[in-house]
Amino acid sequence: MGSIQTNFTPPAFLDGKAKLLLIDGKLVPSVSGKTFKTYNPSTGKVLAEVAEAGREDIDRAVAAARRAFEEGPWSRFKPFDRQAVLLRLADLVEKHFDELCLIDTLDMGGPIARTSAARRRGVALLRYYAGLATATHGHTIDNSVDGDIFSYTLKEPVGVVAAINPWNGPLGLAIWKIAPVLATGCTMVLKPAEQAPLSPLRLGELCLEAGVPAGVVNIVTGFGEAGAALSAHPGVDKIAFTGSTEVGQHIVRASAGNMKRVSVELGGKSPNIVFADADLDQAVPGAAMAVFNNSGQICSAGTRLFVQRSIHDEFVQRVAAFAKTLRVGDPLDPQTQLGPLVSDTQLERVTGYLASGKAEGAQALSGGQRITEGALADGYFVAPTIFANVTDSMAIAREEIFGPVISAMPFDSIEEVIRRGNDTPYGLGAGVWTRDIGNAQRVSRGLRTGSVWVNCYQAMDPAVPFGGYKMSGYGRESGTEHMEEYLQTKAVWVKNPPEKR
Ligand code: NDP
Repeated sequence: MGSIQTNFTPPAFLDGKAKLLLIDGKLVPSVSGKTFKTYNPSTGKVLAEVAEAGREDIDRAVAAARRAFEEGPWSRFKPFDRQAVLLRLADLVEKHFDELCLIDTLDMGGPIARTSAARRRGVALLRYYAGLATATHGHTIDNSVDGDIFSYTLKEPVGVVAAINPWNGPLGLAIWKIAPVLATGCTMVLKPAEQAPLSPLRLGELCLEAGVPAGVVNIVTGFGEAGAALSAHPGVDKIAFTGSTEVGQHIVRASAGNMKRVSVELGGKSPNIVFADADLDQAVPGAAMAVFNNSGQICSAGTRLFVQRSIHDEFVQRVAAFAKTLRVGDPLDPQTQLGPLVSDTQLERVTGYLASGKAEGAQALSGGQRITEGALADGYFVAPTIFANVTDSMAIAREEIFGPVISAMPFDSIEEVIRRGNDTPYGLGAGVWTRDIGNAQRVSRGLRTGSVWVNCYQAMDPAVPFGGYKMSGYGRESGTEHMEEYLQTKAVWVKNPPEKR
């Protein structure tokens, strides 16, 4: 039976006390006094009790965010002051990163090697948006209206933002939502996922330490109902959501009541296309880790692996051999490459797809099952899996699995693979592996996805926009496009009085 993680020092934040909501600059219990448990997916044991926000807590948090936006000192902060807050927060995140990434590893199971490698991105995001805080401006626009009328645009913060996040990168996703709020002068209520709420709560404490005024960043932990109450709340001006397409649709519908601005980053079933001329020594680990990173719990994972027929059989065998070398295990071990899935629910979902793949005739060349023996038996571990003999119509080739599962399929021509690559409701990411720049360009233009990676996969940068086409959502995160999601544009017309003679 399970015997991992018996001997380590937990972070001071996990002090055995129930973790509280952050509302109006104070850590408070929920009005109902209810709490819920968050579990360590490596052991199945309870990690912490967390306050469960209900409707009254959402009302309190939204009211605090509204006050901070309209009346509080924040509303008078100059861009330079907001920049200073972001830079202080970046310094604090850097200083406390070991603690933050340990919390994530315990709460959602990401290997410590992965969560600690996110230091550069987390800190860089905050510093990048700190730069944008002072670089945002409207335009003066020459118009053709009769008379002496001058026109210009003002960029203004959109208002109170409801940010609703999933569990697959708790800290990084929370930073990605907080940074543009602080840069633009909005205020927010952040709802992290019930499965991994701890690092966002610790980040909330660091926001206060960084001098973010009360009410600017509120954090409410709870279940989907709390997210639903936020999405429908008349006091919210904008929703920024990351998660499943199904919940994204609920949110869009709920947002209609007061015409909230909405940006949604949703699921994917991304094609990863390997041409016969590719550098296969790069493409084999590239194709594998495009899915196996974070145990496949990444929205843009390249789960439909299209391989040109002449190299297909050899290539998929090499990916399978590579998968067998990956170290699946205790995420606290720095050598571990794949940790557990986040929850028993996710485990059930993924093993359900493993069964459906086999039942439909796919062949698992590696993995294909939960790890049920030895020290990992109590956790939610699944062996990295590559399925061959897959057809486009199988559920494993069509639906988002969100686990370490690749569905490999051969292709013949570039036209065919572009058509099949696009034959999905999703459009988040895509990969192309080739030495032929012409093929790379044709595929990049032909695929209807928000990102295309050529001879690499899942490269991300604070300055480069990320988001979906089709049912992978709309709106962009990162880059100057991201700021626009949090800004209103106001046109101002000024008629000059006639010249006095
Ligand atoms: P969900 O979309 O269900 O949840 C994301 C967030 O939305 C959570 O904070 C959740 O709360 C909240 N939520 C749930 N219901 C509502 C609602 N009606 N209104 C407003 N907010 C709501 O994702 P899951 O975390 O459950 O994952 C399920 C699947 O979604 C995955 O298997 C994967 O396919 C996909 N997914 C995609 C991600 C992406 O990055 N694109 C990320 C994560 C998941 P709570 O969890 O607390 O109940």
